[in-house]
Amino acid sequence: MIIQEHDHAARCFDIGGSKIVAADVTAAGAITVVGRTATPADNFNEFCNAIRALCPAGSDAISISIAGNIHPQSGVIQCANIPCIHGRRLATDLQQALARRIYLINDAKAFALAEARFGVAQDHNIVLAIILGTGVGGGIVINKNVLTGTDGTAGEWGHGPATAARTGFMLPDPVCNCGQRSCVDALGGARGLERIYKHMGAAPIDSVEIITAWQAGDPGAARAVDIWLDVVGGALANIVNFLAPSIVAVGGGLANSKPLIQALEREVDDRRLCRQSTPLLYAAVSGPEQGLLGAALNIQV
Ligand SMILES: [Zn+2]
Repeated sequence: MIIQEHDHAARCFDIGGSKIVAADVTAAGAITVVGRTATPADNFNEFCNAIRALCPAGSDAISISIAGNIHPQSGVIQCANIPCIHGRRLATDLQQALARRIYLINDAKAFALAEARFGVAQDHNIVLAIILGTGVGGGIVINKNVLTGTDGTAGEWGHGPATAARTGFMLPDPVCNCGQRSCVDALGGARGLERIYKHMGAAPIDSVEIITAWQAGDPGAARAVDIWLDVVGGALANIVNFLAPSIVAVGGGLANSKPLIQALEREVDDRRLCRQSTPLLYAAVSGPEQGLLGAALNIQV
């Protein structure tokens, strides 16, 4: 990696649908944020200008972590949150606009890489990193290298049918962003927990309120969390039995609830082909800077 060879900080960007964060990241993972700006989502020239304004003078390369799937061969990005880049060969187009080499990585894969190299999974060789945020996402890191898959979607475990095999609950069938119905992504994140709670006939409350009520002993919230655990634990057990990771790093807003992750651990463990005496799920430690760390780690020689 360039940052290790030359032992200086790399200018890295974390780009989401609402904001761009720029920072210098050293080989040791030290991060110095140098700027933030709103993401121009609808105009590609403005998008390029926003990044250019945060590039250091004279630099010949930058590295970006970004929402959206990047096809490893064509370089085409699919990004619903930032319409002006959707369908572009983003690295090529930015390279021309900014006259710099561009390194690009999907944000979930950046998170997985950050956890595998600097985070809770740094002593592990087969790492599954999952995000339990508004929806679900994830990445796979084998021997410290992130797996992209043939089309860039490796690690996206949220786009298959959700089931509630243990509880037998008749799940709602919302249309997912991918176009399918009843995806794990639509029922397994924070919005999914809220959908399940509402589908039980309860007055809608947000995921934090549901988890708080569950912890306080509210039976309705406990039922919703139990169904959610059935959905997420089942989907996760499928991957754990298939991939056999030695650790699952859990990020996203729902990972802030330690009791929820402990309950998910039990749910997955009940369905593992090969049960272990040591925990499998650990809360991620890289925090909001995970995209910047992953971008730095994605820089190739
Ligand atoms: Zn889907």
